[in-house]
Amino acid sequence: AYLNRIGRFNPELNAYITVTAETAQAQAVAIDNRIRQGELSGAMAGVPYALKDLFCSQDVRTTCASNMLSNFIAPYDAHVAAKLKAAGGVLLGKNNMDEFAMGSSNETSAFGNVRNPWDTDKVPGGSSGGGAATIAARLAPMTLGTDTGGSIRQPASFCNITGIKPTYGRISRYGMIAFASSLDQCGPMAASAEDCAITLNVISGLDERDSTSVDRAVPDYTATLNDSIAGLRIGLPKEFFAEGLNPQVAEVIEKAVKEFEAKGAIIKEVTLPNSHLAVPVYYVVAPAECSSNLARFDGVRFGHRCSNPQDLKDLYERSRWEGFGAEVKRRIMIGTYALSSGYYDAYYLKAQKIRRLIQQDFVEAFNEVDVIMGPSCPTTAFGIGAKTDDPISMYLEDLYTIPVSLAGLPGMTFPVGFAADGLPVGIQLVGNYFEEARMLNIAHQYQ
Ligand code: GLN
Repeated sequence: AYLNRIGRFNPELNAYITVTAETAQAQAVAIDNRIRQGELSGAMAGVPYALKDLFCSQDVRTTCASNMLSNFIAPYDAHVAAKLKAAGGVLLGKNNMDEFAMGSSNETSAFGNVRNPWDTDKVPGGSSGGGAATIAARLAPMTLGTDTGGSIRQPASFCNITGIKPTYGRISRYGMIAFASSLDQCGPMAASAEDCAITLNVISGLDERDSTSVDRAVPDYTATLNDSIAGLRIGLPKEFFAEGLNPQVAEVIEKAVKEFEAKGAIIKEVTLPNSHLAVPVYYVVAPAECSSNLARFDGVRFGHRCSNPQDLKDLYERSRWEGFGAEVKRRIMIGTYALSSGYYDAYYLKAQKIRRLIQQDFVEAFNEVDVIMGPSCPTTAFGIGAKTDDPISMYLEDLYTIPVSLAGLPGMTFPVGFAADGLPVGIQLVGNYFEEARMLNIAHQYQ
């Protein structure tokens, strides 16, 4: 059924770069047999899913939506891909995204932009835009995205779906092609908090191949979904409701907060005084790490290689020039500059210090409240092409999501209604470290 829907709607939406129709059919039959023979059970057995096209998937093309990797067949599975496979999931294909996850609209993809299923003249958000469109159009019941500065939460808001970026370290990054390693975190995108919980149960936990994955027990995320939220202390950061937030979006968020109050939650104002520094800090830290991570694409070991190189330098230069798109090049240049001798202290080190201040703001807020709520992004889905010539306005899309990423905290978006322009709005929920179960519970109580 899902393959039929993909066949029908993907030509217009462009949510998948690769559809693994044949292997999916074969996998489904094999898994069905194993379930019947009692060899396989569990909530993921037989469930179709997709993956953002930056998770290595064995024998399947993994492009990062870049010409650099347009014909790269991964020789192994990412940790999370292997986990879903072992649990009996059926891979439907690989979702479109912004090139190397750099973007907020899915327009930097070398495979063309994705259309928002709610209004096909609008972007789906990014960088996990293909995944968000996939869930919204029911082209898969679940997909994995990644979030470095908002890439699960912002497209979830634009497409009226649920997505969670867990605490940094909750899930292994092994086999997930790196953008900014101190920020990247994978997470599920689905139609409900419950589906996200089922997925998190399968993919969370320690993996020795990722030294930043955390050795901490994984709770059953579905067990507490029905707990009461009476007495829950919700903090609203005053900086998230200030200038920059579209009033139509604010209205929907405020109405949702009132509904939580009606369910017995206690609403308090909190302050995150350094949050206005988050976007500038991010645009030093993330490009710095990206310039280092993307140095591996040199035309020698894998990926695009230019034809007839004159010498080694020419091979590097032309392969990278031809392989990477404009936004990726912009970030590599900014990052290389910020890390270069003489500028490291002025930019990178300074940014890391401010990052700590931003994190401390959250620590203090969590002394007063259990969770933080606010908008996921300042606007509803914008028009295709509306911001492509204005990188700064594109970067400001992540005003409310980036502080959470810099602090390494878990953040989640779930749908709370439609703005006056008829487009969906998702609320952002931020929990303390490793509070994913509580967050999923809160979202589930709303739905
Ligand atoms: N939009 C942000 C960026 O372009 C965040 C992307 C992401 O989270 N991968 O970097």
